[in-house]
Amino acid sequence: MPNNRRTKIIATLGPATNAPDVIESLITAGVNVIRLNMSHAGHDQTRNDVKHIRAAATKLNKIVAVLMDTQGPAIRTGERATDLKLKPGQIIALTVRGEQSEEYTSVDVNYDDLVNDISVDDVVVVDNGNIKLKVLKKKHNQLECEVLTEGVLGSRRHINLPGVRVNLPALTDKDIADIELGIELKVDYFAMSFVRQAEDVQRLRAILDYKKSPQKIVAKLEDQQGVKNVEEIINVSDAIMIARGDLGIEVPFEDLPPLQRKIVKLCVAKGKPVIVATHMLESMIESPSPTRAEVTDVANAVFEQTDAIMLSGETSVGKYPVPCIQAMDRIARRIERSGGAGFASKAAPDDIHAKIVRQAADLANDIQAAALVVFTRTGRMAQNAAWTRLLRTPIICFTNNKILLPQLALLWGVHPILLDFPNDPNQTVRDAGQLLLDKNLVPKNATVVFVTEATIKDKTVDTIQVEMLG
Ligand code: PEP
Repeated sequence: MPNNRRTKIIATLGPATNAPDVIESLITAGVNVIRLNMSHAGHDQTRNDVKHIRAAATKLNKIVAVLMDTQGPAIRTGERATDLKLKPGQIIALTVRGEQSEEYTSVDVNYDDLVNDISVDDVVVVDNGNIKLKVLKKKHNQLECEVLTEGVLGSRRHINLPGVRVNLPALTDKDIADIELGIELKVDYFAMSFVRQAEDVQRLRAILDYKKSPQKIVAKLEDQQGVKNVEEIINVSDAIMIARGDLGIEVPFEDLPPLQRKIVKLCVAKGKPVIVATHMLESMIESPSPTRAEVTDVANAVFEQTDAIMLSGETSVGKYPVPCIQAMDRIARRIERSGGAGFASKAAPDDIHAKIVRQAADLANDIQAAALVVFTRTGRMAQNAAWTRLLRTPIICFTNNKILLPQLALLWGVHPILLDFPNDPNQTVRDAGQLLLDKNLVPKNATVVFVTEATIKDKTVDTIQVEMLG
């Protein structure tokens, strides 16, 4: 197997990486999914990015998915002519509904219902946790707050309201315009920010269904409401992202590790792809090697057997994007060699095909097969195969579906390959076996386990076949 890393790597594109030759370097270093962050990328840039990613993947003969990450209902402070230097104990007013901040200690906020939704003594967190403000008084369109932590407030800073039930639409006008662009550019996944309930995902699903567009939906869990409704959100999403940047502000930071473990465990138990995101190698934005704590954080996510680990600022604006991917690759391979949490073994699928793949995986493991091979038109069998978290045997997934092919790049352990499926399933298995040998994905005389349909006495039946190839 040329690349037998099971945990997939997602890199966010940005000014540090959006040149075509750098995109090629990211893919060569082992990136499986490239994320476009619509909080920062404009439409012209996004068009170029998608074109360059597709061209690089084709040139390098690699399967790479494109994930468009929407900004979502983000609350921000307004423009400031000068930065505000805030000191603990100082009083600052947060003003809504378009009022200009005339006074030195006032800043406007783009969320109309701020004053309604928040209570006295609540804490407003500004600029990704750098500044904390305690609400002292509510006026008709203003919150009077006390500064709790020192900081410098610039323009358009992100605001979090931990524990506050925010009354914002699941998709803003900007998100809808970005999604229309993503549909036009045929991206593979949409990541939806600040998903708070199943209906939020269903809203995007309705748009995609209406447009007959095949993108899969990644629901980002990043606030307390999303976490509370995690099970219903998992049920309606195609994948989950644990967006630790915002989540680590919205919940006490010591709650983040058990929350991450709980969500990964739930997803793995249900066979839903899951991504652990943000600050995985944060120090590598400036430094060529990771801290020991970062190595351990990546190792922990790999041990938990998350489908993918994600880089954000490290690859979008960092100085060492390729070394970040190489570091993740090294850590993932090393940890996968020593086992995993095994949450998948507790899963009890109802679906007969998932049960068959499980039996085949056990067999492949038992006989130390060179590969477990599945065939899929819809992605279901690939997901079933990833769900086994089979560590010893590589998982190869053949599909005849060109749209599905890059989407499979996100799934744990799945090595996707495009193949025509002739009408005769027996011929499909023969073609697949030949391709594995031709591409040197298995050695000659290797034993391979196929999960496939077969025609036996004019009937098509599900089978597990063990074959020595060559
Ligand atoms: C996060 O908060 O971890 C995250 C991935 O979301 P974003 O960076 O888009 O705010």
